[in-house]
Amino acid sequence: MRIENHKIPGIWYGQSSNLGARRQKPPVVIVLHYTTGWNGKASRDWLMGAAAGSSNRGSSAHVVIDRDGTAWQIAPFDRTAWHAGPSRYGTLEGLNAHSVGIEFVNPGWLKPNGLGEFTDAYGKRFSERALKKAGGYQMAPQPRVGSGSFAWPLFPEAQIATGIDLVQALVGHYPIRAIVSHEEIDTRGWKTDPGPAFPFERFRALLGEAEDREPAAVVTAGRLNLRGGPGATFEKVVPPGTLLKGTRVKIMQRQGDWAFVAPENPDGREGVVTGWVHAAYIAPEFAA
Ligand SMILES: [Zn+2]
Repeated sequence: MRIENHKIPGIWYGQSSNLGARRQKPPVVIVLHYTTGWNGKASRDWLMGAAAGSSNRGSSAHVVIDRDGTAWQIAPFDRTAWHAGPSRYGTLEGLNAHSVGIEFVNPGWLKPNGLGEFTDAYGKRFSERALKKAGGYQMAPQPRVGSGSFAWPLFPEAQIATGIDLVQALVGHYPIRAIVSHEEIDTRGWKTDPGPAFPFERFRALLGEAEDREPAAVVTAGRLNLRGGPGATFEKVVPPGTLLKGTRVKIMQRQGDWAFVAPENPDGREGVVTGWVHAAYIAPEFAA
């Protein structure tokens, strides 16, 4: 895929009625979502609002990707779409203004009833056989939904391949500095998309470690352990062992919830010490 005039030539285009102003600055973040449904066309039309005859006046996205890999663009990338809601990532507040929103058609979590059936977010029931036929699922907990484990339908490879194509084109065209889930930026603590079945690492890897895209970050915890590996069981790097709140770090690499960082010295030079920190306690800094 390539981008021309903020659109992808060759794919279906129809403009949503639910868009904000033309952006003054290019997008710097990509936000990944699921639609909370199985029907791609229905989600696309919903997110297009009045333009597709739906009653929705409050949400949209830039691209919707169906389960068979079909992509529909419903907003040009230089217009604000309404997909992120109240949100924060690092020093950015209100991600809609700064991001591209991509919706993957997927129902999200289903609650097992213990008798081989699963209920989706709308109360509709599915047999285990139906879920397997639809591409399979994995079980994983999500405290935002409730206790226990939930079934998360898998994302077909054709759908992911289109998503990777699109994200690659966006990263090549815009100064994208982060690829994030809706869940991690949602400040209300409701959102769960795109969920544990989504192959997030494959997308994050597209930013390219070598390209040095990730912004510097600031430690937000009072004291943050700097460890020898990406997990709480790895020993602390001594010295310094812990980083104090406000320390600036350069993010070299990410793995799951962990980031490999080089803390900056107070005079602004990069330190010789490196280590892993839990990424929840560092806030990437974006230019105002
Ligand atoms: Zn979302």
